[in-house]
Amino acid sequence: MGLIVQKYGGTSVGSAERIQRVAERLIAAQKSGQDVVAVISAMAGVTDELIKLAHELSPQPSPREMDALLATGEQGASALVAMAVNALGGKAVSLTGAAAGIVTDGVHTKAKISHISPRQIHELLAEDFIVIVAGFQGQSTQGAITTLGRGGSDLTAIALAAALKADDCQIFTDVDGVHTCDPRVVPDASKIDEIAYDELLEMAGAGSKVMQSRAVEFAKKFGVGFEVRSSLKDRPGTQAKATPANMEDVVVRGVSLERNQAKVTICGVPDRPGCAGVIFSAIAGASLNVDMIVQNASSTGTTDLSFTLHKDDFTLAEKTLMPLVAQIGAEGLSATSNVAKLSVVGIGMRSHAGVASRLFACLGEAGVNIQLISTSEIKIAVVIAEEDLECAARATHAAFGLAGPRRPSSAAAG
Ligand code: ADP
Ligand code: ASP
Ligand code: MG
Repeated sequence: MGLIVQKYGGTSVGSAERIQRVAERLIAAQKSGQDVVAVISAMAGVTDELIKLAHELSPQPSPREMDALLATGEQGASALVAMAVNALGGKAVSLTGAAAGIVTDGVHTKAKISHISPRQIHELLAEDFIVIVAGFQGQSTQGAITTLGRGGSDLTAIALAAALKADDCQIFTDVDGVHTCDPRVVPDASKIDEIAYDELLEMAGAGSKVMQSRAVEFAKKFGVGFEVRSSLKDRPGTQAKATPANMEDVVVRGVSLERNQAKVTICGVPDRPGCAGVIFSAIAGASLNVDMIVQNASSTGTTDLSFTLHKDDFTLAEKTLMPLVAQIGAEGLSATSNVAKLSVVGIGMRSHAGVASRLFACLGEAGVNIQLISTSEIKIAVVIAEEDLECAARATHAAFGLAGPRRPSSAAAG
């Protein structure tokens, strides 16, 4: 008998009716002869609501208490799914992350899984239970509740599939699979049938939140094949694997979008050893996560240094760096929080020329100004004004011929 891990995201358990549909799917999977482990996210909007509540009560809530609070969203949803299965005549039991044996380090709000001891899951499966695990959480070796970062139920599912040596891992969500761009922004985005871990990793890291990037990283490291598919329709989704067919023939696999970015530029930085070190030590000291870093070549003895980070960290970054400008002898600092990032991703880029020119030309024709550019082996990313993002996404998607047959219903849910 095979073992399947199915993960259901927030929209997929967003109402009593949807929970009932999930319960029906779980019972059907068990009836088809499989051992079934389900990983459940908090109902849509619950995590955001809990975060908002916490900030109404405290400007800087303790990370430990944040984890204790946020983990309840997934716990409630899993208990509801278990109740729904039982009400339909099935046999289910819900477990917290801790009870499922998920042990993490003690870094609250972004804990790393150190190991999984799924003894209780195995015992329950042996007694024919459908085992429902609360996603996004674990327990530190000190016994505190921890969470795995936003979108972390994806990681719970992939890690459990690895620990249980599952035959199948399915990530059910509110779109038909991984698309060539966010189908809510580009309606003619097409579903990708197969995608390489490396491509999905770059897309997730560049803002395509359909999968948490840490979950994809874990899947790549442990060779966990998985499928991203719709919980609302019965259709094949996207298979993520090490080497999809014709991998290098597809030059650009998708376009990723990241909103809510800010850009900071320190102008006239003296061109001497140590300046970048001083700037980024201060940034690290303030626990700010920087994304893109771009420095100009110097021809006049000074250079401009720009970087991007999340909009929420913008004020702290400005406050941290202002005093350093004079200290390192730079000319000034300019910052804007109205920017976004657009990236094109594809393994085929390694062996095909002309991707950059096509991207820059199409953005130029669309009247979109490029503020920063950065590249990796399989990605080209640009920072643009946030107000240009949707127009740029549609133009880029068309320029690389990524459109598929129009399927408006694929983005209609949620
Ligand atoms: P879940 O709650 O199931 O975890 P998420 O909201 O985290 O779902 O992720 C699904 C959403 O990801 C979709 O509704 C879609 O808007 C968005 N998305 C962004 N980029 C893509 C993409 N390239 N392909 C599919 N969905 C994408
Ligand atoms: N509920 C958590 C979040 O909204 C985890 C998840 O849904 O995967 O980030
Ligand atoms: Mg998600």
